[in-house]
Amino acid sequence: MSAVNETLIRDVVAEVLGRIAGATPTVNTSAPASPAPAAAKNDSCGCSVKKATSAPALRGNYGVFATADEACSAAQEAFVQLQRGGMAARRKVEEIVKAMAEKNSEAWGRIEFEETKIGRLDHKIAKLGLIKLVPGVDWLRPDARSGDHGITLEEYTPFGVVGAITPSTHSIPTLSGNIVNIVAAGNAVVFNAHPSAAKCAAVAVRAYNEAIYRETGIENIACIIEKPTLDSFNALCKNEHVRLLLVTGGPMVVKAAMQTGKRAICAGPGNPPVFVDDTCCPTRAAKAIISGAAFDNNLLCIGEKQVFVLESVADKLMQRLAENAAVKLNAAQLASLTKAAFTIKEGQGGGCAQAHTNKDFIGKDPSFLAQAAGINLPAGTQLLFAETDAMHPFVQEEQMMPMIPIVRVKSVEEGIAMSLQSEHGYKHTAIIHSHDVENITAMARALDTTLFVKNGPSPAGLGLGGEGYLSFSIATPTGEGITNPRTFTRVRRCVMVDNLRIY
Ligand code: NAD
Repeated sequence: MSAVNETLIRDVVAEVLGRIAGATPTVNTSAPASPAPAAAKNDSCGCSVKKATSAPALRGNYGVFATADEACSAAQEAFVQLQRGGMAARRKVEEIVKAMAEKNSEAWGRIEFEETKIGRLDHKIAKLGLIKLVPGVDWLRPDARSGDHGITLEEYTPFGVVGAITPSTHSIPTLSGNIVNIVAAGNAVVFNAHPSAAKCAAVAVRAYNEAIYRETGIENIACIIEKPTLDSFNALCKNEHVRLLLVTGGPMVVKAAMQTGKRAICAGPGNPPVFVDDTCCPTRAAKAIISGAAFDNNLLCIGEKQVFVLESVADKLMQRLAENAAVKLNAAQLASLTKAAFTIKEGQGGGCAQAHTNKDFIGKDPSFLAQAAGINLPAGTQLLFAETDAMHPFVQEEQMMPMIPIVRVKSVEEGIAMSLQSEHGYKHTAIIHSHDVENITAMARALDTTLFVKNGPSPAGLGLGGEGYLSFSIATPTGEGITNPRTFTRVRRCVMVDNLRIY
């Protein structure tokens, strides 16, 4: 019997005896022990091979750490524990995270809403109830080949520790879905959350770890840096244990991750256009646009941000929007809101003026925007809309507000061309309302987006009313698509030459 197997068996026997005796794994809730890297350094013989250590490092923090290096060392140790626990342990973690996200959706939705002050409380709660739709362990199936020369198996195996960056727009939902996907693939994870959504993220991480430790004895499988900064982002990316990055956020963080030299899966920004032609059902289109764009006050990266509509159907579409809890702003009201919601900087050296979104307006309620527009809204208003030209800041900026600009177009070609321009090459999401397959195909080809939704609201692209599965991290510039457990794996091939083919 190999030394590894003996150690493994000893650990399992000790664990089982401990459980029979009614003992729970011992948790040191006092100050953490010295970070593992320091110990590794002292023991180093000078070569690059890392010594395996059985000494517990950084226990008792339930995943919440002051520094990136502490978090990464703890996660590395948890990765080794997870490997020992096998598929059963991964499955248990998946079950725990999915069940806890749903059970705590009300409480966690509220603390996230109170901390970030963006979006809608009802939708913050709803998003946490959806984590059960994220794929898990069962997603991973090996690929096999069998032939005259034996059999070959390709397996989807873990990287180790994944460094993950989460956005302010859905902090706990993103990290919860990320834990399910990343751990289902056999990895541990360390989060650097958005500073304005970090406290709620730490609450969820601590709770997940407490439950996972209680049920599996694995500690720190998902870690978080308690007070995230740009320095902790850099330290996380540089840490030797971090083999892969997952970034969910806007253009700056995508650029920063790509410059680290590590492989980065980037779930980047979007500015999803909607094109409406004269073959669609205007009522269905209007309801879908409201449902997608009003969700969490339009914080979703996939949310409808601007509408291009054929002139012949434009009035009807706007009428249907108004009949379904959306309110139209007139030109003067739109001008007032635009002045408040954007800072327009004059172009330098003859360049075009550049609009910057005023952060105070992101994810705010329609009533807040209406105040700036100078109108009162009827109760229950979900969305504002206004007619604009194609270069208006509400069209060009990823504004994340419950206010949809409507642009009339003269032809299908013009609608598709304007949609393409407004998407800015993010290749994220586009939506069409049409029953003409040629128009649908032309737009799908031209836009070339990761998600393309026909005749439904944007969340249908994530399995919410459409077929498919959910993730809050949609890898766009790097091309992995809607992330799932396989996204976080290395493909490894195992070949048996000339044998084990059984017929
Ligand atoms: P953000 O870019 O401001 O922040 C995202 C994360 O990146 C945060 O953790 C932040 O602290 C960090 N960050 C920002 N700039 C950084 C830099 N230069 N170096 C290191 N870290 C940096 O985004 P946000 O406002 O929190 O979220 C909204 C953005 O995220 C939108 O652009 C939206 O489209 C995008 N998003 C994309 C997806 C997707 O799946 N593709 C999902 C959610 C959000």
